[in-house]
Amino acid sequence: MALQLPVYMDYHATTPADPRVVETMLPYFTEKFGNAASRNHAFGWTAEEAVSVAREQVARLVGAKNPKEIVFTSGATESDNLAIKGVAEFYKDKGNHIITTTIEHKAVLDTCKRLEKEGFEVTYLSVGKDGLVDPDDVKNALTDKTILVSVMLANNEVGTVQPLEEIGALTRARGVLFHSDAVQGLGKVPFDVERMNLDLVSITAHKMYGPKGVGALYVRRSKPRVRITAMLDGGGHEFGMRSGTLNVPAIVGFGKAAQILVEEGPAESERIRKQRDRLLTRLEGQLDELKINGHREKRLPGNLNISFAFVEGEALLMAIKDVACSSGSACTSASLEPSYVLHAMGIGDDLAHSSIRFGLGRFTTDEEVDFVADLVSTKVKKLRDMSPLYEMHKEGIDLQTVEWAAH
Ligand SMILES: *Cc1c(COP(=O)(O)O)cnc(C)c1O
Repeated sequence: MALQLPVYMDYHATTPADPRVVETMLPYFTEKFGNAASRNHAFGWTAEEAVSVAREQVARLVGAKNPKEIVFTSGATESDNLAIKGVAEFYKDKGNHIITTTIEHKAVLDTCKRLEKEGFEVTYLSVGKDGLVDPDDVKNALTDKTILVSVMLANNEVGTVQPLEEIGALTRARGVLFHSDAVQGLGKVPFDVERMNLDLVSITAHKMYGPKGVGALYVRRSKPRVRITAMLDGGGHEFGMRSGTLNVPAIVGFGKAAQILVEEGPAESERIRKQRDRLLTRLEGQLDELKINGHREKRLPGNLNISFAFVEGEALLMAIKDVACSSGSACTSASLEPSYVLHAMGIGDDLAHSSIRFGLGRFTTDEEVDFVADLVSTKVKKLRDMSPLYEMHKEGIDLQTVEWAAH
């Protein structure tokens, strides 16, 4: 098949819906359009039955024993808000301390910031150079006032997979609730709410080949039974935790996407891991001065975050318009701040501004990988040829010791 341009290598930002997902959704827009809350006719029952199948499919993906532990939401931003604010509000008489990390998604960080304004105390744990959280740091941060620990499964920029099992053992032993934003890793790396002692888990469909605008929050129902305060008042849908008429077609698609990952996830991850390694090998074969950001093994199979020293990431993105990926400068907002995740890992501004995140996924082909590796290599060489700093570096001049003329 001929290469279609541009090549999509930004699977951490969103994924295309799998055609099998779309096909499953379609009848629920038209002939099966019922409201899942309509209890007294067949239209409602059909919709309710479809939602309950999806609930089981999503439950299976996270390892939940009871499908009722799945609460459908509009996506992971809402799930993160509901988990953290919901626990904070419900358990505020028990304590006012929350532990999270500096590399969480903004949906977690900004939620915590909001709670700080309301009198909660939040500890933001830093990470090592490899982007990993140290479970000992979690242990040392726990106090008698701690009600919640929130650590993501896998980071959306550097793909680092966190030691949730170790952290879950600590929180469970102390009777502290444990939440994870599992968006990036679910179905891609091993995950299980029981083994990891998780109490709350945020998920979104559009990062796993489902539709946008639908997600879920796993809320443990036994040992312990987790309670959260709802954010929306209304009809009391989703066991009173999330009011609002269910988006049945999206939920059906979300369920199908979960089922596909349960069945095909492990094999798919292996294939994608090989393609990611192929991309890296081919880049390393053509370029020097590459720095891989994030732990080399404990990372998502489809993630490659590289700093191309002496090259501005934004300039490189402009030069490789035939590839859709992200730089370490622009991914958080419209501003050109260096990524706070790379910053938290102790990576300097220069290398952070030189970083590119490649995200490979279900529809990535070997041909695309080779095309991207060769195009990036050509353009990096070209940009470096124009860089006096790279030239000086090649001549063996230590740039740290150079005294630049004052202006
Ligand atoms: C994309 C993403 C979110 C936000 O999910 P939405 O469904 O788009 O709101 C939250 N956390 C992580 C880690 C993400 O990658």
